[in-house]
Amino acid sequence: MRPHAIVVGAGLAGSSAAERLVARGWLVDLIDRAAAPGEGASGNLLGVMRPLPSLDDNRLSRLTHAAFAFALQHLARLTAQNLPVRWEPSGVLHLARDDAHLATQQRVVELRQPAADALRFVDREEASHLAGWPVALGGWWFPRAGWVDPASLCRANVARCGAAIRLHFGCQVAQIGQHGGLWSVCDAAGCVLAEAPVLVLANAVDARRFPVTAHLPLRSARGQVSHLAAGAGSPPQVVVCRLGYVTPAVDGVRCAGATFAVDDGEAGLRAADHAENLARLDFILPGYSKVLRPAGVGGRVGFRPLAPDRLPMIGPIAASAAIDRAGPALPLTRLPRVPGLFLINGFGARGIVWSALAGELLASLICGEPPPLADDLVQAVDPGRFVLPGRSRRSQRHAARLPDASTAD
Ligand SMILES: Cc1cc2nc3c(=O)[nH]c(=O)nc-3n(C[C@H](O)[C@H](O)[C@H](O)COP(=O)(O)OP(=O)(O)OC[C@H]3O[C@@H](n4cnc5c(N)ncnc54)[C@H](O)[C@@H]3O)c2cc1C
Repeated sequence: MRPHAIVVGAGLAGSSAAERLVARGWLVDLIDRAAAPGEGASGNLLGVMRPLPSLDDNRLSRLTHAAFAFALQHLARLTAQNLPVRWEPSGVLHLARDDAHLATQQRVVELRQPAADALRFVDREEASHLAGWPVALGGWWFPRAGWVDPASLCRANVARCGAAIRLHFGCQVAQIGQHGGLWSVCDAAGCVLAEAPVLVLANAVDARRFPVTAHLPLRSARGQVSHLAAGAGSPPQVVVCRLGYVTPAVDGVRCAGATFAVDDGEAGLRAADHAENLARLDFILPGYSKVLRPAGVGGRVGFRPLAPDRLPMIGPIAASAAIDRAGPALPLTRLPRVPGLFLINGFGARGIVWSALAGELLASLICGEPPPLADDLVQAVDPGRFVLPGRSRRSQRHAARLPDASTAD
């Protein structure tokens, strides 16, 4: 019989997981409370896709490096199949925020010696030329990186599944339960929406609503992006980042962002946040906001699902209630798990670059195949990491040392 899973959430996380399962011959019921794929955090007009090198080649860098390479292949495959994904490897210019950062960026390139078509260090003059605008400092130039329309990626993932996916839009999951080896998901009236042996939760911060997942330290980070009217051919025609980002104009709109506010639930646009984005834009391209058309700034608000250590959560869910916290420490590989229940979540500010590889990793774990990442990275993203004794305090200390995640947008 054909293996069968339910996926709750049709954003980047859920659509990627569904696509990878279907590629392995699974049947998937995909459920979302919205009317279409990519209506949550994954619904921004455009976002940035690029790697994130570091001096010590830390876990975040290695994960993002692998995910970037995988995402490029995935996007190329979808494009080759005429699926409706919109993206462009326009190049990403990541400018240094100050002289110390500039020196670090230069040192990273000297140390890592990347291929010149993957990453180059550029001085201020070359950076200004690439940006089409005078900039304050040089930085990293990623020629293969670029922008992606994330909702179009969700739609293309779903379209690739063809008849092997059953779509349930406009359906809010209120309860989940397992009986006789089958997971069932129900709406608020108790009506069963779908049943299957495997259940994947890809419903962002809402994944915490169920008793079995309430222990997950997921938080929400509100982000507002500003939409600026822009003429065709106006600079920049590449993505430029510097504690924020500005994209090329697509369909007459350029995106600049983004704000980052944890546990801020306001869904409406805020004038103060647009002002913050324009100040950020001037930090990236000095004087740029003065030449903007005064036609009014639009925008969009989204809520990034965030883990305290800024790494994603991908894998089987730990049976938190069955863990003896007073007993001997267990390795992650021996943690008790909830049978058939999986999570793909916590993408924070990097869902566009991480999602394709995350979907592949999750599908490999569900199917018991060798994972596409080294063991230490598989463990680093294991949702069970948060129920290890002492872990939550450690991860909070670690998170406090990380740079503000808004730099990633
Ligand atoms: C302002 C902003 C800028 C960003 N910029 C970038 C960027 O430049 N580069 C980058 O890589 N990333 C960026 N990101 C991050 C990226 O967009 C997110 O990491 C990603 O979209 C998260 O995907 P997701 O599928 O986990 O969540 P979502 O897209 O929010 O998907 C969750 C889905 O679950 C559904 N759902 C929730 N609860 C239920 C329920 N009970 N029943 C049924 N359905 C449910 C929702 O309707 C939603 O469709 C940005 C995010 C924001 C907000």
